[in-house]
Amino acid sequence: MKRVIMIDPGHGAETAGKRSPDDTLREYEFNRNVARRLVKKLQTSGFDARLTVNDDTDMPLIQRTNQARDLKRQGYDVLLVSIHANAAGNGGWSTANGIETYTNDQAEKLAQIIQRRLVADTSLRDRGVKRADLHITRETAKYGIPGVLCELGFMTNRDECMLLKTDAYREKCATAIAKAICEHYGVPFKTSTENPQPEQKPVDKVSIEINGKRLSVQGYLRDGVSWLPVRAVAEAVGGKVEWCATTKQVKVNGKDVTEIIENGTSYAPARELAAILGLAVEWDQATKTVKLKKGCV
Ligand SMILES: [Zn+2]
Repeated sequence: MKRVIMIDPGHGAETAGKRSPDDTLREYEFNRNVARRLVKKLQTSGFDARLTVNDDTDMPLIQRTNQARDLKRQGYDVLLVSIHANAAGNGGWSTANGIETYTNDQAEKLAQIIQRRLVADTSLRDRGVKRADLHITRETAKYGIPGVLCELGFMTNRDECMLLKTDAYREKCATAIAKAICEHYGVPFKTSTENPQPEQKPVDKVSIEINGKRLSVQGYLRDGVSWLPVRAVAEAVGGKVEWCATTKQVKVNGKDVTEIIENGTSYAPARELAAILGLAVEWDQATKTVKLKKGCV
């Protein structure tokens, strides 16, 4: 049977509210950028991949799923994957973070592969594969079409918002989803010269000083954000660190922090961690040191 993979970039330029609190990121722009990369990658690997929307308009949801339905009625094996960025809170910045994938019954296996690859490649928090009464997953299910909706990080989280604006992150997400689709259908993932793999940026280590004393452990710089080892920093100033096994989320002094786990160690953005611990942050460019101080900020 002939297969068509429909990639749906959520929302449009005029969709109200779908933006970061500081208005530096519009969701439709991120969604379209990732969706276009994903379509190209799938085409390079030999799939008939198509966008549901080619311009910046907010096509009504019913038209998006009807396209998939019509292709199915024409005898195609259809998959619909919708691309989104997440939001939480009431208009301001929020600490909610991580990646989640919504699925219908028909796409459960694929959704698991997509979620696993996204989390492995981005190192963001795994919020899991979920079910919800969303138009994309519900309407596709009516026609027996596998439907998936990916939420690729929170534009309402300061650090994830910075990440969502980078080409490197967009490329990472598109590659992870393309590889997952290839894996699911047993098709080798191919790259072309116009479709290069993202370059792995070297990781810059940063030193940490607390009240003038240097810690033995280091943090690192990624996309302009300093990430510090949560436990070492918190405990150096008497902070309380807890880890919740059910949510797999670390808490400092009872508050959730944005975290990335590298080699079994939780790292959090310096600014966020310092705020929770009541510390002032200074960055010394010459020595690549994050200086944390007790006292007024
Ligand atoms: Zn959305």
